[in-house]
Amino acid sequence: MSDARVDNLTIAVAAGKGGTGKTLISCSLAQALVREQDATVQLLDCDVEEPNADILLRPEIAEREVVNILVPEVDLNRCTHCKRCARVCEVAAIAAVGQAVLTFYDLCSGCGACAVVCPTGAISEAPLRIGEVAHGAADGIDFHQGRIDVGHQRSGPVTAATRRAIADGAVTIIDAPPGTACPMQEAVDGSDFCILVTEPTPFGLANLREAVGTARRMDVPCGVVINRDRDGYAEMEQWLESEGIPVLMRVPERREIAEAYSRGETLLGASDEWLDELTDMYRQIAGLVSSEAAPSGKE
Ligand code: SF4
Ligand code: SF4
Repeated sequence: MSDARVDNLTIAVAAGKGGTGKTLISCSLAQALVREQDATVQLLDCDVEEPNADILLRPEIAEREVVNILVPEVDLNRCTHCKRCARVCEVAAIAAVGQAVLTFYDLCSGCGACAVVCPTGAISEAPLRIGEVAHGAADGIDFHQGRIDVGHQRSGPVTAATRRAIADGAVTIIDAPPGTACPMQEAVDGSDFCILVTEPTPFGLANLREAVGTARRMDVPCGVVINRDRDGYAEMEQWLESEGIPVLMRVPERREIAEAYSRGETLLGASDEWLDELTDMYRQIAGLVSSEAAPSGKE
């Protein structure tokens, strides 16, 4: 543990699909590190459409930060129906139809382009709430949880607001959304390392291949945690070996783990043996990051 980066890593925990145990791993890792490390440990729940790290960590929330975006408001008295606003909008959130200009706030990202191109100043911008970030603490873990409001589809601003909590000098664990689409990429982007949680099944392998491809395209080094491991899955093992992807930890399919999870507890609630397993995994990651000389995820 001599590397200077050891106490300053940002580690995303992702999975090719939901239900693989991603949040179990991220919360267990944060709990293990806060017991074993002197450093500040943060848990950022960036699974903003379905955040649930609070169920396992039971944080005390000190503050709720509202996340707004600026959406266009159109003054039709000043509108000349030139349609420039509709043409510039990449997500079809504003439409100029005849004498009317329609806005669709559930699609709007708040980029402001329509207001910039409007030649008459007919478009002003007004704040619209799309979600919140809860800030608090959970047994020594610095806890932050983003949540998008029902009816909104733009996770980016809520994820960005959650990620603003990343602190220098802290170990930051990011619980990313499942899948490999934009919300996952927004959460993982700029991390020092990405743990990909998978299951030893053909479906798990298919999702894992996609997730590894995404992490590589983002230039984020990755390793794998195999959850609900039975006797291994030869095809997955062979693929991981051929791709040079390390297996960081295996979580067997065991009754006490399932029971702990159903009680709303992490791996540490199942057995103390996981404390060493999780801190060993962290050491492996720190070694891999050092050897890859990966860029810092701190902003
Ligand atoms: S702010 Fe951006 S996303 Fe929203 S309507 Fe205008 S151009 Fe489209
Ligand atoms: S760009 Fe401005 S003037 Fe042109 S249609 Fe849109 S709101 Fe009207």
